Amino acid sequence: MTARRRLVVVGGGITGLAAAFEWRRRRPDDEIVVLEAADRLGGKLHRVELAGHWYDSGPEAMLARVPEAVRLVEALGLGDRLVAPATTQASVVLPDGRHPLPAGTVLGVPAAADGLEGLLSPGGVARVRAETDLPPLRVAGDVSVGGLLRERLGDEVVDRLVEPLLGGVYAGRSDELSLRATMPALAGQLASAGSVLAAAAAARDAGARSRGDADGPVFATVADGIGSLPEALVTAAAADVRLRTPAHALRRTAAGFELSVGPAAAPEVLTADAVLVTAPAPKAARLLAEAVPGAVEPLRGIPYASMAVVAMAFPAQDADAGSGLLVPPIAGRLVKGVTVSSAKWPHLAGGPLLVRSSVGRFRDESELQRSDEDLTAAVVADVAELLGLARPEPLETRLVRWGGGLPQYLVGHPGRVAAIRAAVGEVPGLAIAGAAFEGVGVPACIRDAYRAVDSLL
Ligand SMILES: Cc1cc2nc3c(=O)[nH]c(=O)nc-3n(C[C@H](O)[C@H](O)[C@H](O)COP(=O)(O)OP(=O)(O)OC[C@H]3O[C@@H](n4cnc5c(N)ncnc54)[C@H](O)[C@@H]3O)c2cc1C
Repeated sequence: MTARRRLVVVGGGITGLAAAFEWRRRRPDDEIVVLEAADRLGGKLHRVELAGHWYDSGPEAMLARVPEAVRLVEALGLGDRLVAPATTQASVVLPDGRHPLPAGTVLGVPAAADGLEGLLSPGGVARVRAETDLPPLRVAGDVSVGGLLRERLGDEVVDRLVEPLLGGVYAGRSDELSLRATMPALAGQLASAGSVLAAAAAARDAGARSRGDADGPVFATVADGIGSLPEALVTAAAADVRLRTPAHALRRTAAGFELSVGPAAAPEVLTADAVLVTAPAPKAARLLAEAVPGAVEPLRGIPYASMAVVAMAFPAQDADAGSGLLVPPIAGRLVKGVTVSSAKWPHLAGGPLLVRSSVGRFRDESELQRSDEDLTAAVVADVAELLGLARPEPLETRLVRWGGGLPQYLVGHPGRVAAIRAAVGEVPGLAIAGAAFEGVGVPACIRDAYRAVDSLL
């Protein structure tokens, strides 16, 4: 039998809490302390009450085909609370109107020109078709998604199809986002495929083959909100949670680690045998300055986009927009996306029209300077117009701001992650995980949490 150890988890978001849960499963007798700087658990997992429902203001859909999130919900005994979407048909809003998202793309990257008519101009479709006439593709190292696709498939594919999808996931810009980090499956096929279209087809088919269950739902949510998971996780993990307790500094000692925690003016010292850092990259950089100086620069190289989410309940009416709208920059609107939750999720149907919409992109955050009232009113007006609502006066609204909400995987991101992992890996008993590294989605964060627990155990 091994001695009882103390794990300290810095950050009580999904990564930290999933790690605490997994650690408890594997080491039932250890002490687990979760340090959380904020006055609530969950980080980006957060729910509000809207028109009598629990309503997510952070993540609202979990990719079911990366199975870690669904399996974790089941392991918590909440499998009967999992909900599959009633519809996933979304449309893109462009200057010339609304267009249904075509099927069979890899994050917007098409595998063929067929099916793009209408969404792209005839010239844009011809440009995609003409990729087969270009010399075979050679990609050395990492490149930007936009850079590669503009060159191979033309601007329209990027501005009208890829940008809305990538913007939805990262609140980022395809001209700056790393191909290898944001589209690893596609990037992995490029060398052998010789063209973007062939690589997208190969990535799509390989994904379908490895899933085997290609007909299963792509996304899932939780009936009480994904924001209900933090409480369930921390109870199951039997962790000692310390809210309003930031970790400021980490030192190595002969026996393990010492953390300086609590109010900056009067910090306490907490000892640990193992430490898992899940704070966002800029905070992690500060925390690791002394113990892992080699991780500081690459952590600082991961910037974040800020955004705001407005949740709205309108009088019951049909929005006729499927699961929602993606709104790329060329549409020239305030909002960058609209989710029609009461159409998308069966458990939210049957009452008021429930909608959420987000504002703010990387390097385009000026609208977030507005007051809560002003921003909410402007978002409501934009959404009502985009959905063509007959009854546009909302019954209820909630605004949630996400300063530093989503890390940006810029060109060179895989190299930064490798450097951070290598530097942290030189310190036995220390690990780092979270949205900043190999996937911003909830399932990817859980996967990274498990990887970190594996490395520590
Ligand atoms: C608006 C929005 C919508 C999203 N939608 C989706 C979606 O639909 N589907 C999906 O899969 N993903 C979505 N995401 C992404 C996903 O929610 C996040 O990437 C993920 O939840 C991040 O989890 P995390 O634990 O890595 O980080 P966080 O949630 O940021 O948790 C880190 C925690 O560390 C704490 N902390 C920071 N510094 C310290 C310190 N010094 N000491 C102690 N604690 C500290 C923070 O307070 C925070 O609670 C969305 C994100 C946002 C912002």
